[in-house]
Amino acid sequence: MTSQEKFDSTVAMVKTFDPQFGWIWKSDSVLHRTIGWIFDKLGMPGYLNSFWTTFKNTVGRPNCAKLGMEYEWSVMAHEGRHAYDARRLTFPLFALIYGFPQWLGLLAVPLAVLLVCLTGSWLGLLGLLALGFLAPIPAIGRTILELRGYRVSMSCDFWTYNGGIDFSHEIKSFLEIFEGGTYYYMGASLLKGYVENKLNYYLAELNAGKGYQGDTYLTTVRNLALSFLQ
Ligand SMILES: [Zn+2]
Repeated sequence: MTSQEKFDSTVAMVKTFDPQFGWIWKSDSVLHRTIGWIFDKLGMPGYLNSFWTTFKNTVGRPNCAKLGMEYEWSVMAHEGRHAYDARRLTFPLFALIYGFPQWLGLLAVPLAVLLVCLTGSWLGLLGLLALGFLAPIPAIGRTILELRGYRVSMSCDFWTYNGGIDFSHEIKSFLEIFEGGTYYYMGASLLKGYVENKLNYYLAELNAGKGYQGDTYLTTVRNLALSFLQ
């Protein structure tokens, strides 16, 4: 089976959980090209070429996938988890949880204007202090939602190799992702121990052959992964 066929099978699998699920090439999207241009100017290149980005139920596929990627299907399984979570929570609630607390910072200017109007005092400008929420404060909601996605990623690798690779490297690289700038330092400092415990717990569950039975999505991903081995 080619990597593209595995990719297509995974998209079809996710569609059984979210019929609206789909994908586009980032380079064909004005929105993604605009975001990529902004990130480029901010000194963060690679958005169009290296990162999969899901908005609601559409995955933006980076240029690096045009060369064919053996394990891109597991990326889609991870992104599908987000799309399915967004469908169950409703997208507005998913976005609020994912973006908290940073989106509070976007309310700073309207809050300050409102306070100035209500109080008739320039002290209302203290509302601008809410801009502080734009800082890279650890984000518990984003961390939990991404842990659900990275549990899928780890499980895909585990079932593909029947547990026969060193997962300590994978956990280390996932930890670096959670603590670093890729997701705006969502799992840094106070959340670091929590993330590490969760990843180790997921691995222990996989080693014990447990953890997926009560999770319909994960069970379906497992069946797909095993079908690729035949
Ligand atoms: Zn994710």
